Amino acid sequence: MKKDMSEAPLTDRYGRKVSYMRVSVTDRCNLRCSYCVSQDMSFIPHPTILRYEEILDLMGIGVSLGVDKIRFTGGEPFVRKGFMGFLESAALRHPSVELCVTTNATLIEPFIPRLAEAGVKRLNISLDTLDPAKFERITKRNLFHDVRSNIDRAVEAGLNVKVNVVAMGGVNQDELPAFVSMASSLPIDLRFIEFMPIGDGTRWSRDAVWLAKDILGGIKDLVELEPVAREKRTGGPARMYDIKGGQGRIGIISPYSNHFCASCNRLRLTSDGNLRTCLFSDRVYRLRPALRHPRLGLPFVDRIIRKATQAKPMGHKLLETMPSGGGVCHTRMSAIGG
Ligand code: SAM
Repeated sequence: MKKDMSEAPLTDRYGRKVSYMRVSVTDRCNLRCSYCVSQDMSFIPHPTILRYEEILDLMGIGVSLGVDKIRFTGGEPFVRKGFMGFLESAALRHPSVELCVTTNATLIEPFIPRLAEAGVKRLNISLDTLDPAKFERITKRNLFHDVRSNIDRAVEAGLNVKVNVVAMGGVNQDELPAFVSMASSLPIDLRFIEFMPIGDGTRWSRDAVWLAKDILGGIKDLVELEPVAREKRTGGPARMYDIKGGQGRIGIISPYSNHFCASCNRLRLTSDGNLRTCLFSDRVYRLRPALRHPRLGLPFVDRIIRKATQAKPMGHKLLETMPSGGGVCHTRMSAIGG
């Protein structure tokens, strides 16, 4: 691909600079989290999944447009064959980009040294409970101990680990002390994320949302928190806090009650090559047909990405408009990648 196909950086019509791409490499996952996947588990057929080489090309367009951070996600990225090798190629081909991975950490053990060597900047690990039996109830898999020990291994290997907990009313509210204790005793960022109304057939309801303000109040009853100055944060939407006397930090992400759309800098690419400019919108831009078209190819894809970015919605108003149940975006999260 010609370098710098486009000259101007990606900016939308509201002046937001888009510099962060989340790339889902598969919609398949080895867990079956009840709130994430729907009952009807149909997967994207293999021929429609982007090849690694195609993803590298699309990354190249993103980079030429000013993207400087790319997060790989899924489904579960490590379920896809060759993912570690692909990551290494991505790091070599796009050395200027900050590469991050979001994973359930069930399969990462053999890859931890290579993740560190490949320069993966951040490893986000999803873990919604510290109770092995509850883990199995939520995920339908008896893999809690693998995840928990892989978190320790990743920290020991020097990776920058964030543990993401989807905060769900009636599910993990009782575990606040256990999570706070984990964040106090490990050098990690542990972040609570409000449950989002995404995906049909999942278990979202207004009652299942454990609001950021209540999470924070609960944590403050347990430990003393010191807000982390903006410049010491890693640029994401989390409000971060140091724990007095603790090793790690606690964060709260509130996409539901206090959204951060005005500073949204993200584009999402699904594993079948659909570009999404807003997590809460079903609108997609199909890049794959243009990418695989013998005469259109990358220059045309570049144009679609620019046009799509221009039309990026300003935001969502979940609190004002949501009915008591159901989702605003009807694609399941496992197909978008979070
Ligand atoms: N398999 C990887 C993992 O477990 O992190 C990546 C994909 S997973 C879809 C990405 C994240 O989305 C997970 O942390 C998951 O808990 C979160 N997630 C799924 N559905 C959600 C929802 N409705 N609200 C908030 N987070 C959700």
